[in-house]
Amino acid sequence: MRSPEGTEPFDFNDVLKCALCREGMAHNNQLTFYEVEIRQCVLDLDNLKQMHGMEMMMGSPAIARALSPTTTVAHRIGPKTRKLVCQECAIVNLTYLALLAEGGE
Ligand SMILES: [Zn+2]
Repeated sequence: MRSPEGTEPFDFNDVLKCALCREGMAHNNQLTFYEVEIRQCVLDLDNLKQMHGMEMMMGSPAIARALSPTTTVAHRIGPKTRKLVCQECAIVNLTYLALLAEGGE
């Protein structure tokens, strides 16, 4: 069967339990769920201070960015983690987003 326009097929082998409630994706009779990829990042405070200083000196963020030796504001840590989140948890529990970055399925 072809996927409806604007969608991509989601294979049975891609199915996981909800990363937050550990239930199946259809446990609450919802037809939609979320597939998320998550990666933790850390700000580069030295670069941010340097960029802010350039902005203060130049008086324009755009000019400061053009002349700055770096535009790196943060660094990605580790690999992306793929998770599924049921509709109910997406609405109720997204305050626990950081938990998704934890290991396991
Ligand atoms: Zn859930």
